[in-house]
Amino acid sequence: MNPLFADLPTTIFETMSSLAREHNAINLGQGFPDDPGPEDVRAKAAEASLSGYNQYPSMMGVPELREAIASHYARFHGLTLDPLRETLVTSGATEALTAAILATVRPGDEVVLFQPVYDSYLPMVRLAGGVPKLVTLKPPHWHFTQEDLDRAFSPRTRVVILNTPLNPTGTVFPRHLLEMLAAYCVKFDAICISDEVWEHVVFDEREHVPVMTIKGMRERTIKVGSAGKIFSLTGWKIGLVAAAPDLLRVVSKAHQFLTFTTPPNLQSAVAYGLMKETEYFTTMRLDFQRSRDRLTAGLQALGFDVLPSQGTYFLNIDIGPLGVADDVAFCHRLVTEHGVAAIPVSAFYAQNPVRNVVRLCFAKRDETLDAGLERLAGAIGK
Ligand code: PMP
Ligand code: GLN
Repeated sequence: MNPLFADLPTTIFETMSSLAREHNAINLGQGFPDDPGPEDVRAKAAEASLSGYNQYPSMMGVPELREAIASHYARFHGLTLDPLRETLVTSGATEALTAAILATVRPGDEVVLFQPVYDSYLPMVRLAGGVPKLVTLKPPHWHFTQEDLDRAFSPRTRVVILNTPLNPTGTVFPRHLLEMLAAYCVKFDAICISDEVWEHVVFDEREHVPVMTIKGMRERTIKVGSAGKIFSLTGWKIGLVAAAPDLLRVVSKAHQFLTFTTPPNLQSAVAYGLMKETEYFTTMRLDFQRSRDRLTAGLQALGFDVLPSQGTYFLNIDIGPLGVADDVAFCHRLVTEHGVAAIPVSAFYAQNPVRNVVRLCFAKRDETLDAGLERLAGAIGK
């Protein structure tokens, strides 16, 4: 068997959700909303299943969705994309990321990654034969510095993989840091795979800055989005890729032998959704922000040290002050003995993990959050 996969543990999300089911726990681990998602978008999918075309669509995506991607990113990010040459639909952002990595990384190429690192990146970089160069981010700000980039980049750097807003920390990288990173990409002629699946889930009127819009990056960025996150329909697995034609062409070659196409009924519904009025997107983020504030206030009232969350469905707590030295043991005890699933952030580190941070998902109904808080109170003897 291939040791890359034979030795790989099951992802922390699956592990924690299984434990949550087994122990009848409140699942604040894996990131998915309680709410069923916008009814009109789901109705479109149903309608397209019944009266639409359900055979293989174009491997690049259905034309209406590719046009909607270009139009959506023009409206929200001021990007000008040619739908035919610069957009691609994949089966989830996970597939898009894999296709982008396989398309750009050659054996021996160095790939700069930031840890905490989303769990799918490293195995795929290794599959491609890439040599990971890790920059370690630390709480409470999780920012990188010029010295970090000096250490990580070299003439062998081929690709940088960035995630903004960052899962699991909820960090929205400010423009000046993206500009700093862009300068290194330009200097070392590197491609940026920019995982922007949380682009719409940003709080406190913060601005998500797409890497592609930074000077020097338009031709060297592969932008990855996810309809699952944009519409709170995480099971849908529709990935949205935008890149300059020379990059996109090669990404699409990798995509053609990963999944080839993506269900056309869901693509039609996402095309409809991307064209929804701006108010939908504003309301969505305000709703999540309210949930973030509710969970934050409840945790703080219990004495937890809550790290700031600027975006995503997640906030983090520092368990150091509780005298707990191991986030994995803490999360295991939490789910098996107290019925709350959470994610140990050390799972997002390949080396020298931070061990005192635990991620909680707040994309839940008030009742779920309140019940979770009650159990957390029990867990710390309050
Ligand atoms: N990247 C990041 C940073 C994510 O958080 C997620 C899912 N939560 C994905 C990629 C995968 O997205 P999809 O479900 O569309 O494959
Ligand atoms: N990205 C989601 C999270 O961070 C989970 C996705 C998955 O289960 N692979 O919770």
